[in-house]
Amino acid sequence: MHELGICDALIKMVDQIAKEEQLDGIRRITVEVGTLSGVVPKYLEDCWVAVTDGTPYMDSEFAVEVVEGTAKCFDCAQEFAAGLNDKLVCPFCGGKKLIPVSGRDLTLKEILAE
Ligand SMILES: [Zn+2]
Repeated sequence: MHELGICDALIKMVDQIAKEEQLDGIRRITVEVGTLSGVVPKYLEDCWVAVTDGTPYMDSEFAVEVVEGTAKCFDCAQEFAAGLNDKLVCPFCGGKKLIPVSGRDLTLKEILAE
């Protein structure tokens, strides 16, 4: 239920931004999810629907954009695209000591008001 906590945090962020920028009615909220973040976009969307039910955001569109993560091999220093569902082995040398470089984040990318 990792995603539920993320949705709660997202709502608080959107609330705060909407207040600060005096936005009236949010039409679309876009978040970026890295493939190494451990967040499953489908679960995130489902949780968003559950969490926003009865709130001013229940009719807002919720868009999840997936950003491909990259990892670096400790042995041969090559960088390559990597997702959590992949077998995490270096495609160049077969090394298993990998360092995530990007794609571990979930960010609130854009809020579109009416
Ligand atoms: Zn390697």
